[in-house]
Amino acid sequence: MALIVQKYGGTSVADLERIRNVAKRIVGAYDQGNDVVVILSAMAGITDSLIDMAQQVTHYPEKRELDVLLATGEQTTAALLAMTLNAMGYRAQSLLGFQAEVVTDCTFGNARIMDIGATRIKELVSSRTIVVIAGFQGCDVNGNITTLGRGGSDTSAVAIAAAIKADICEIYTDVNGVYTTDPNICSAARKIDRISYEEMLEMASLGAKVLQIRSVEFAKKYNVVVHVRSSFTEEEGTMVVNEDKSMERLVVSSVTVNKKEARITLIKVPDQPGIAARIFSPIAEAGINVDMIIQNRHSGKFNDLTFTVPTPDFEKAMELAREIAADIHAEDVLGDTNIAKVSVIGVGMKNHSGVATRMFSALAAKSINILMISTSEIRISCVIAEEYAELAVRTLHAAFGLDKS
Ligand code: ASP
Ligand code: MG
Repeated sequence: MALIVQKYGGTSVADLERIRNVAKRIVGAYDQGNDVVVILSAMAGITDSLIDMAQQVTHYPEKRELDVLLATGEQTTAALLAMTLNAMGYRAQSLLGFQAEVVTDCTFGNARIMDIGATRIKELVSSRTIVVIAGFQGCDVNGNITTLGRGGSDTSAVAIAAAIKADICEIYTDVNGVYTTDPNICSAARKIDRISYEEMLEMASLGAKVLQIRSVEFAKKYNVVVHVRSSFTEEEGTMVVNEDKSMERLVVSSVTVNKKEARITLIKVPDQPGIAARIFSPIAEAGINVDMIIQNRHSGKFNDLTFTVPTPDFEKAMELAREIAADIHAEDVLGDTNIAKVSVIGVGMKNHSGVATRMFSALAAKSINILMISTSEIRISCVIAEEYAELAVRTLHAAFGLDKS
């Protein structure tokens, strides 16, 4: 008998029929003697349409009021699922974020969980009640409703699993698990059976949508075993766990691609102390996240400086770069949105050399030019022309032995 947390995403609770399907899964686990705590998302598309509605009222809705509005999506599914379970003859009760004592900071729209009281959850569990909790929402110390950022119900689930010391946190979604790469790009992609928290963190920060980054941070910090799986099949999904011996055999476990980055180059920047700070301070102040940076010698006492930013911030970043360039007497500013970042990720890299060479050679064999390179302990990323993104993914997937046989 175990204490199981199950989180169901928007597509799994998209209508009443699917909510009934979810209810059946839950009672399946419950009837085996397990205690079950369920965390829900809003029905697929609801959060988007609520945002849309707010936008029709005003372009700048009060963030506090927007959170009150968005929280209704999860309130709806929690109530409907609890009712469905009751109608099937099971004891179930819904809890909103504040009732589950999910205490957050005051950052509306992107709040961080500070603490989870969980006394009420535990009481209900001990009376064999199925607890159904609205994900994505919490409450600040002043009693205001907050939300945790898009995809935040993953974080609700993992944080609650940590707080009640659940044996496992199952994340039910519409895919069978975490894949070695995007199956829409590479038909040889495989489902990964076990992946480490670190690898999952890199994947999430490189744009894999399957888990919200913060949920993985929580899982890693509190050692929550996470099982990402589909609510539409019985198949086992992907276990996200602490790094173990079996993972080291694979040097690279996944390949990712992100086309939503752009690069900006400042030509002929004076080579002086303090210049980099002058360039990047205004960009940081504008809330723009710079990812890669490279600097090369131009000629004489000048450098060329290239960096990448998320595509949605490109125009703003270009505007700032032009102002800065005028200010520091740089010669020119060039921008390019037709780039993609391909990355290979794997904890096995820690104990293997030559991974970068293998990546560069594989790309070279397809005549793909590398524009920029960055690395972490378990990741190597290359910026390339966007038109080669898919080819690069397939090439690297094969080169690192990830293709299914
Ligand atoms: N409903 C929220 C969203 O769409 C939270 C979630 O689904 O995780 O972002
Ligand atoms: Mg999600």
